[in-house]
Amino acid sequence: MLLSQTDKPEGGQRHVTDAFSRPLRNLRVSVTDRCNLRCQYCMPEEEYVWLPREDILHFEEVGTLVDIFADLGVDKIRLTGGEPLLRRGLPTLVRMLAAKPKIRDLAMTTNGILLADYAEALFDAGLHRVTVSLDTLRPERFRALTRREALQKVLDGIEATVRAGFKGLKLDTVVMRGINDDELVDLIEYGKRVGAEVRFIEYMDVGGATLWSMDKVVSRTEIVERLAEHYGPVTPVVEESSAPADRFVLPDGTIFGIISSTTAPFCRSCDRSRLTADGMWYLCLYARAGTDLRGPLRRGASREEFRSLIIPRWQARTDRGAEERLGLDRRAPLVQIGELRKDPHLEMHTRGG
Ligand code: SAM
Repeated sequence: MLLSQTDKPEGGQRHVTDAFSRPLRNLRVSVTDRCNLRCQYCMPEEEYVWLPREDILHFEEVGTLVDIFADLGVDKIRLTGGEPLLRRGLPTLVRMLAAKPKIRDLAMTTNGILLADYAEALFDAGLHRVTVSLDTLRPERFRALTRREALQKVLDGIEATVRAGFKGLKLDTVVMRGINDDELVDLIEYGKRVGAEVRFIEYMDVGGATLWSMDKVVSRTEIVERLAEHYGPVTPVVEESSAPADRFVLPDGTIFGIISSTTAPFCRSCDRSRLTADGMWYLCLYARAGTDLRGPLRRGASREEFRSLIIPRWQARTDRGAEERLGLDRRAPLVQIGELRKDPHLEMHTRGG
């Protein structure tokens, strides 16, 4: 099968490109659907329908699928979940993936609760980039938002990553009106203290966000305005990138990002696809259906069979879920709770954020 020749990454290997010339480059690998928080905007229920244990991919299986994707041009992997650090032995998987020469960038998104325990082992295993989700610096607010008492552990985890040697630490904050939108400056200041770049994420109407409504979204424009009021002129950083965040610089040189998936989506440059912990492959965070890769893997499908499964699907990809949502007249949560109960694959915590 011929690969599209529109995009030629380093090393001379050709990328598979989709219907909008977006390369297959970036794979988010969810290692578990379990989480130790119950954030209102992601997992508002206490109990969920979990993926069957026997369906969860073993590390060797994840490694095999990553090899297959790497042969097709994927060179960026982000470990996510659920909470990835709940997956026992995660440094072992990190070591395996970090040793793959075709993977240029291996990163992880975590809520940070277990980071203090694992930061050193993860760094030694070859993980060098971490993003920690941090929505508030106030303990009582953290408890109300996540329904767990764990802010101090997250802050300890952030400090542990700095001590362990991680560079380029990022802190991701979902901004919600009336919940934490009064902490923009506090978070930027905290980021400065720990040497992390803060990225504000617009609240999205995706997966488990069954409590979402448009009036709770604080837009990119408003975030910039509010920070400019406090700090003075905010200047966009001009850069070529497929990263989801637009970056800005404050008058003192501090850089921060905004991921405006709700009001100004970045579908046009989206090179991300998602592998769930049970081996389903999704081409868009908003996609209703995915491709089962666990079945073929456990049946012993050949590399050629996988290529025939993956390449045409990516080449036919027309997904631009966030842009389509933007086009709707009336917006409400994407999926209702009843539907989520029937199909856990629709959940953000299954698909990885
Ligand atoms: N447990 C890890 C963590 O907390 O970072 C990884 C998984 S979590 C689903 C990944 C990211 O998705 C987090 O930064 C989370 O805040 C974000 N997220 C979840 N639901 C969201 C929503 N409705 N809108 C915007 N971001 C959301």
